[in-house]
Amino acid sequence: MKPWYRPVGHEVTVFASAYKQALPVLLKGPTGSGKSRFVEYMADQLDRPLIQVACNEDTSASDLIGRFLIKGGETVWVDGPVTRAVRAGSFLYLDEVAEAREDVMVVLHSLSDFRRTLYIDKTGESLNAAPGFQMTMSFNPGYQSRLKEMKPSTRQRFVTIAFDFPTLDIEVEIVSKESGVDLSIAKKLCALGEQIRKLTELPLKETASTRLLVYAAKLIQAGLHPRLACDSSIVQTITDDAETVTALRDLVELRF
Ligand code: ADP
Repeated sequence: MKPWYRPVGHEVTVFASAYKQALPVLLKGPTGSGKSRFVEYMADQLDRPLIQVACNEDTSASDLIGRFLIKGGETVWVDGPVTRAVRAGSFLYLDEVAEAREDVMVVLHSLSDFRRTLYIDKTGESLNAAPGFQMTMSFNPGYQSRLKEMKPSTRQRFVTIAFDFPTLDIEVEIVSKESGVDLSIAKKLCALGEQIRKLTELPLKETASTRLLVYAAKLIQAGLHPRLACDSSIVQTITDDAETVTALRDLVELRF
């Protein structure tokens, strides 16, 4: 199935122009705001295969580039996802790259500038990216699990596209299209989401993202009572604090 994506600003034209000029792209914005879906959509539109990697604090350069493995008594080199994308001229999407170990950005430097070259120390190979290769990374500036930020010198290597939660009308369209719920339910859910996002006084690390609103809508569509759907997909997901749970449940009950 073709990925469906509802553009919310100029992201499609900016990305297409960056691709034309072989410039790498950084998508910055909160979790669940459509970054991954956007990359899937652009890869499809521009007719390129896509390789996606979700980075975490254990992700190392070898995980991305490749390593020697012992197979049947022999040592063989196995390409990692970055190397596969470079060889095939694929789109490469590195999600939450700031979480990865520091050696990751170092090896990606030569790929993200005019050289478009990947140096593989362990094999002595120097690979020029095949035509069509496009590197995209994502970064959530508000979320710093290990107080990690991306260095300004790294940021300067990328064309940056900012993502945020869409306006109410667009979000209603997304939630109803993604889940199949009636517009009236989608409107209530999105209004709830908007209200939760404004609660800056509550100790929330993450907020009610578009993804969570879609989850709630899908549970409702599956027959779950809206209060239970909102509780399990939104309230319990964004907080573990008992008082905050009560405050959020009150908001849900006012609408459903
Ligand atoms: P991120 O990568 O920013 O964490 P995702 O791309 O995974 O977020 O988006 C989460 C979900 O929200 C998607 O699976 C999709 O259902 C929905 N979504 C968010 N924004 C959009 C959009 N603009 N168009 C279509 N779906 C969207």
